[in-house]
Amino acid sequence: MSESCNSCSAAGTCTTDSCSSEPQVSEAQKASHVGKVIAVMSGKGGVGKSSVTSMLAVSLRHQGYKVGVLDADITGPSIPKIFGVTGRVGVNNTGILPLKSRAGIQIMSLNLMIEAEDDPVILRGPMIAQLVKRFWTDVIWGELDYLLIDLPPGTGDVPITVFQTLPVDGVVIVTSPQVLANMVVRKAIKMVRKYQPPIYGLIENMAYVQCPDCTNRIEIFGKPKGQEEAKRNAIPYLGELAIDPLLAELSDAGKIEDYPAPAFDQIAKRLTEQVMLTVISS
Ligand code: ADP
Repeated sequence: MSESCNSCSAAGTCTTDSCSSEPQVSEAQKASHVGKVIAVMSGKGGVGKSSVTSMLAVSLRHQGYKVGVLDADITGPSIPKIFGVTGRVGVNNTGILPLKSRAGIQIMSLNLMIEAEDDPVILRGPMIAQLVKRFWTDVIWGELDYLLIDLPPGTGDVPITVFQTLPVDGVVIVTSPQVLANMVVRKAIKMVRKYQPPIYGLIENMAYVQCPDCTNRIEIFGKPKGQEEAKRNAIPYLGELAIDPLLAELSDAGKIEDYPAPAFDQIAKRLTEQVMLTVISS
C-alpha cells in the first residue's frame, strides 16, 4: 500500500496494488497541515481516556506545540466540556472551523454542532463512523504539530473507520489497574496491530492515590500492572497517573488547562520521544 492510500476512503478494504487515481483531497485538507495524528484508545470506558487525551494536549501545548483534539467519541463526547469550550463551530467555503480552547488547542466535537450539549446523538454505527471521517476531511485544522483523536472505548465502528481511513501515525493506549486485571486491553492492542499503526505506548491512569497527609501511595485497586502489561505486549510504557480529585473537579468545571501537570508533562515528553524514535526507525 502506498503512503497516499492512507487518506483514501477505500484504504483498508481496497485490494488494488497500484491505484491510477489520486485520492481525493478536500479543500479543508488542502488548507491543513497536520504533523502527527495520534489516536488515544482504551479497551473500556471510564478509565480516563478523555481526561488523559485532554491533558496530553495541554502538556504538548505547554511544550510549545500546536495541538488539536478530534473528539471521535460521538455518542459520549466530553472534550468540549472538559475544556470549557462552548458555542458552535464555524463554517466557510473551505470547510468547518474548529473552536479554540483558552490555551489555543483546536477542538472539534459533534457537541459543538448540536443545539444543546445534553441532546442525545441517536445515530447508527455507519452514520457515526461517517461523521468521524468528515471531522478529518471537512475540518480546517490548519497548521498542527499534533492532532489527538479521542476514540470511543472498545474496538467498534469508529476505531475501525479511524484506522482504515485517517492517516493515523500511532496509538496511545490508556488503561487503569482494574481494567488491566482482565483482557480488554489486549483486545485493543490486537486490534491496533491488525491495522498496523505503531503503538507509542501505554499509560496507566488511576494507578494510586497519594495520601494527603503523608508520602504514602494508596494502591486502592491493587498493585499497578501497567509496566508489566506493556512489557508482555512489547510496547513502550509511558507512565502512571494518580487518582486526583482536583483533576476531576477541574474537568467538571471546564478548567482542565488550570491543572498543574508535572506527571502529564513527563508522559507527553516520553510520547514525543516515542514519536521521534518511530520516525527514525521507519
Ligand atoms: P473515559 O474517557 O475513559 O470514559 P473520562 O476521561 O471521561 O473516562 O473519565 C471518567 C471520570 O473519571 C471523569 O469524571 C474524570 O474526571 C475522572 N478521572 C479520570 N482520570 C482521573 C484521575 N486521574 N483522577 C481523578 N479523576 C479522574
